[in-house]
Amino acid sequence: MFFQFNENETLPGALSCYHKYTSNDLLYSTSPIDNTLLARVSCINAEQYEKFVQIAQENFLKWRNIPAPQRGIFVKRFGQEVQNKKGELAQLITLEMGKPIRESLGEVQEIIDICDFAVGLSRQLYGLTIQSERPEHKMIENWHPLGLVGIITAFNFPMAVWAWNSTISWVCGNVNIWKPSEKTPLCALALHKIVSNLVREMNLPDISFVFTGDYKIGEQLSLDKRIQLISATGSTRMGRQVARNVASRLGKYLLELGGNNAIIITESADFNLVIPSVVFGAIGTAGQRCTSTRRLIIQESIYERVKEALVHAYKQVKIGDPNDEQYHYGPLIDENAVILYEKSIQSAVFHGGKLLYGGKRIESSELKSKNYVLPTLIEVEKDNPIVQEETFAPILYLLKYKTIQEAIEINNQVAQGLSSAIMTLNLRESELFTSQNGSDCGIANINIGTSGAEIGGAFGGEKDTGGGRESGSDSWKNYMRRQTTTINYGINLPLAQGIKFEI
Ligand code: NAD
Repeated sequence: MFFQFNENETLPGALSCYHKYTSNDLLYSTSPIDNTLLARVSCINAEQYEKFVQIAQENFLKWRNIPAPQRGIFVKRFGQEVQNKKGELAQLITLEMGKPIRESLGEVQEIIDICDFAVGLSRQLYGLTIQSERPEHKMIENWHPLGLVGIITAFNFPMAVWAWNSTISWVCGNVNIWKPSEKTPLCALALHKIVSNLVREMNLPDISFVFTGDYKIGEQLSLDKRIQLISATGSTRMGRQVARNVASRLGKYLLELGGNNAIIITESADFNLVIPSVVFGAIGTAGQRCTSTRRLIIQESIYERVKEALVHAYKQVKIGDPNDEQYHYGPLIDENAVILYEKSIQSAVFHGGKLLYGGKRIESSELKSKNYVLPTLIEVEKDNPIVQEETFAPILYLLKYKTIQEAIEINNQVAQGLSSAIMTLNLRESELFTSQNGSDCGIANINIGTSGAEIGGAFGGEKDTGGGRESGSDSWKNYMRRQTTTINYGINLPLAQGIKFEI
């Protein structure tokens, strides 16, 4: 593997491309597959923090003057390097985070795709020209780099989420500081190694930093006035704290937080599409995607049929070593995640839910850790408090509805607003679902599930999901500052709104 580590070595966690330091505070990276210690990674200390933020500030002054299409060439080369190491990077994701190798390959592909997107953007990043009300005047909009961008990421997409942010932020002219999840530092260090080799080879300023550590480093970045944008991905609890801290210094933030995603299954749904999209949505990545399907809202006339088909499908699900492609999913991230899975099931049943399938941890001598759980189906009423919660595990709640209006109401009745979907061949239903009277989520799909977004669209959600948009469409505008300029090319000085002023 291009990225080596062993148990007796402590990896430097506070990295710029040219400087390496170690400190006494350590992160322990453990594989959820068998709980082995993969590596100890040092956390950044106060002195390193200060030094690297200063270097980042100095380097921003150089990077912002490199034309955007040339910045794009760096991103293009980065994408090629990732392509060359696709298999090894995917293996590392599976080892450290535990997602199935097929999905890890998909995650690395997302990095390659967003690089392509960012390279195209590097020749665009355009503003408007606007008609002026004054004779011989015109207005234009310029977009300028922001400065330093702090990227805080979650464990479940330990590489791709950083790439969504960093590649676009780079072509926009910013220098990035990455605070990866404390659960997946090796994924961050592996990508950082690719960046740092490339920066050196291309003789560029140091434009990427990794600050390893726990939430306290994230807090420090959020409170630091020198960081122009904090882009934070993780739980709603974390997002509230980041929002408070960044707002206290009137900074900018972009939040990508928890989801509680539903699929509405209507009477006209194509059954060939329903079961595969629901099962992938609910159990893919062991239910640890922000877009995982957590609720199924089923029309009462087809409820029993959907329920039976799902129970049948769930019996076929294979759980085991995520490196082995025969298994549909592997372990949850850690013991704590299993406890939360068990507690959610208890709570659902306590409040009247009926367990249809699964509901427990898998005890098997063939599995090398106790982090594996059964996929779970629970029938609930819409007022069961558990349907308000995002549990990061493969639990799916089944609910009944009578009318499409009621289905949309149930879809929207949770605090989160990330992803949603409807399975229907009825034009009126699909149009209603995506209208202003329909789903209140950032993503509203038709005849596909809630997860597996492409990078070309803007990704993110409303309400407790935080309101941010990343990745495609015009999300790049988050990483730049807008400047409006009015130009007078005449010999008179008329004032706007017809105001007369003489001197
Ligand atoms: P988490 O909130 O525990 O941690 C995420 C990151 O935030 C980590 O790097 C952590 O160190 C940091 N952090 C925690 N508290 C902080 C604070 N007060 N200030 C600054 N940083 C802080 O989340 P997790 O368990 O790693 O990930 C799962 C969550 O992430 C789920 O809720 C999931 O829905 C969400 N998620 C959302 C998206 C999205 O795009 N909407 C994508 C992936 C994951």
